[in-house]
Amino acid sequence: MRTLVISDIHANANALDQVLASAGLVDAVWCLGDVVGYGPDPNECVARLKALPKLVCLQGNHDAAAIGDMPLDSFNPEARSSIEWLRQSLSRESLDFLKGLEPRVEIEGVTLAHASPRHPVLEYLLDTYSAAENFSYFGTDFCFVGHTHIPVLFFFNKQGVNLQIPNPNSKFTLKRRCIANPGSVGQPRDRDARAAYAIFDDQSNSWDYRRVEYDIHGVQQRMLSANLPARHISRLAGGW
Ligand code: ZN
Repeated sequence: MRTLVISDIHANANALDQVLASAGLVDAVWCLGDVVGYGPDPNECVARLKALPKLVCLQGNHDAAAIGDMPLDSFNPEARSSIEWLRQSLSRESLDFLKGLEPRVEIEGVTLAHASPRHPVLEYLLDTYSAAENFSYFGTDFCFVGHTHIPVLFFFNKQGVNLQIPNPNSKFTLKRRCIANPGSVGQPRDRDARAAYAIFDDQSNSWDYRRVEYDIHGVQQRMLSANLPARHISRLAGGW
């Protein structure tokens, strides 16, 4: 089974469309959360996801904030103003979709968590220390996470945990056990502005990590019209 693994779309429909087009035919789609927040297209992104085959979608911290499940004071002032805009913009259908999501799910022998298996909504898995602590919090061979917006692979071995920053558009074999992050579709933060995603094949355990260009300017124009924070508009072009 070939599964498209995406995360942190952040209401960026241009990036999501480009990822879906470039991924081609897949058997299932696993979205690791933060469908909304920051970007100008929350309802469009929810509608696109709902139409996908065999979708499993997690709830991220921005999705939780959008439906009122996360206090606004846990976000910085810019993120907060963006969430206030989001709450006014979400349709009833989008709200219902976001309310039905969970931050951690086990599917086809893989654990999916938005942030980490230990703290599925809020922990940032950025280093081998916190990754090592998390391996005892899931029982499957593989765990896929998002949240940091940085593509990374953590491999567990007897000596400890190795971190690998994958090269864009390269294929890896996931060795037991590992935590993998496909990066962010709609707001990459690794200084590469292209949308990130991965295709996981459970026959070969391959992790095909890809980056794809999309119309950043168009998204920025819509953010400008919606009066969204300038910092969030400019960061898209730099990938930070
Ligand atoms: Zn996010």
